[in-house]
Amino acid sequence: MNDLDEWIDCWKCGGEAWHHDCGEDVCCCADPEPNVMCDICLGYGGWYERGIRTVEADLGPPAMAPVSGPEEV
Ligand SMILES: [Zn+2]
Ligand SMILES: [Zn+2]
Repeated sequence: MNDLDEWIDCWKCGGEAWHHDCGEDVCCCADPEPNVMCDICLGYGGWYERGIRTVEADLGPPAMAPVSGPEEV
């Protein structure tokens, strides 16, 4: 983890990562267990968001980069 990394709570589950879903509109489970993994954070509850510059650097040149200038071989 470097200084640019920032932990972001999952926007869907708010960091809970797992939630309970028994299929009932009104849950009446006595002890609702988390049984469904959040499909956004995949059970992690969030992720590390890197600084924008770092992300751009990691992505590298776009795959469909337009050819600029004559090729030197
Ligand atoms: Zn339930
Ligand atoms: Zn989540």
